[in-house]
Amino acid sequence: MSANDRLAARSLLHVWNPCTQMKQHEAWPLVPVVRGEGAWLFDADGRRYLDAVSSWWVNLFGHCNPRIGDAVCEQLRTLDHVMLAGFTHPPVVELSERLSALAPRAADTRLAAAGGGPLRHASYGSDGASATEIALKMAFHYWRNRGMPDKRRFIALEGSYHGETLGALSVTDLAVFRDAYAPLLGQPVIVPAPGPASSMPCCPECAADALSALQAELERSAGTIAAMIVEPLVQGASGMRMYHPAYLAGVRELCSQHGVLLIADEIMTGMGRTGTLFACEQAGIQPDLLCLSKGITGGFLPLSVVLTTDEVFGAFYGDSSARAFLHSHSYTGNPIACRAALATLDIFAQDGTIAANRQRSSRITERARPLATHARVRNFRNLGMIWAFEADGAGPGFARRMAQAALDRELLLRPIGHTIYFMPPYILDDAQVAHLVDATLGALDAALQD
Ligand SMILES: *Cc1c(COP(=O)(O)O)cnc(C)c1O
Repeated sequence: MSANDRLAARSLLHVWNPCTQMKQHEAWPLVPVVRGEGAWLFDADGRRYLDAVSSWWVNLFGHCNPRIGDAVCEQLRTLDHVMLAGFTHPPVVELSERLSALAPRAADTRLAAAGGGPLRHASYGSDGASATEIALKMAFHYWRNRGMPDKRRFIALEGSYHGETLGALSVTDLAVFRDAYAPLLGQPVIVPAPGPASSMPCCPECAADALSALQAELERSAGTIAAMIVEPLVQGASGMRMYHPAYLAGVRELCSQHGVLLIADEIMTGMGRTGTLFACEQAGIQPDLLCLSKGITGGFLPLSVVLTTDEVFGAFYGDSSARAFLHSHSYTGNPIACRAALATLDIFAQDGTIAANRQRSSRITERARPLATHARVRNFRNLGMIWAFEADGAGPGFARRMAQAALDRELLLRPIGHTIYFMPPYILDDAQVAHLVDATLGALDAALQD
């Protein structure tokens, strides 16, 4: 038995892996990872894998990045944790200040949040889903505090994904996650996503069609809608469906016109993933609530945050606790996680990551040309540090075969159905980019053959 086999066997006895039909591991090996360095992960047998999906979209600057690691070590020798109710601490103060200074603003007042001011109030959670929960509860409670308790439904896009706790799953439109729990879930109002379901980046015209559908829905039901929630520019979990910023701008205007709050779920798209620090910037909009998580700690620790305006915050401010936002998690605003986030923001500032990624992105797109022009590749698309395409004529079980064929070639991919995507850390050198593309080409040919 190899070291991999031994660790995998122990794991399978006691660890219930997320998002997994555990029986699949009778056929597919579980990969025990014992070390990470930069873009590479190493298994117990010493084989390595290039992490092309940033380990579920969280790892921005490589595994065990020493700059983030050092900040974390220093923090855990200074203050590990203190509850955030009745207390505060330097990392959470500094992080909230910096995030509110960085958060999207709208130059055009028609694209601003209700009340106009900056997103300067930060409410913390642990995972992305807990940020979604905060945003949904806050939006509903905002209207309740303003004497409009009937505004209690949410609009979400076809193919939306906002996390898998019950509230977040209620606004998620993906049958694979939703169907088993449907009896437990709230009913969102689902509006058509911009662009064809084929996942191609949509054009201003498809944005206009989807906006007419949204407008009709809002004219019908805005009186009962608390908020609309969107993944700005890229719907990730439904297959990296990219859409035109004109749609997002239109959504902002329509929500404002109809008295509906806009929640931007930038849990995946935030932290530079789409080419700007936040995807909302590309549409020039400011949401009423902004959800961040995933890359916010550079992939070191779980942390999420919802940023909102004076307008929303003010509706909760008063003498009664019934008016207050009584939502908490034990680890709300954990100092070590906040320090990891501060160190991540330092890297963006010191290294000029956003500008450097523009060059990096075009180099990767250039080197990926053999994929874009491959006879079995459709809809090759790119936005910032995301690339995606569909494998044409891939049969059932393709995603699993493709992932395995990639592992066999020292590459970590996690296709969604027939969609293969890259969401690499922002550090790949030319040799790693070459490896990414060549291993993908090899794996694609192998997975399409079987
Ligand atoms: C991953 C994700 C979530 C959920 O985050 P978790 O940390 O997995 O709970 C929510 N929304 C979007 C857009 C995501 O990509």
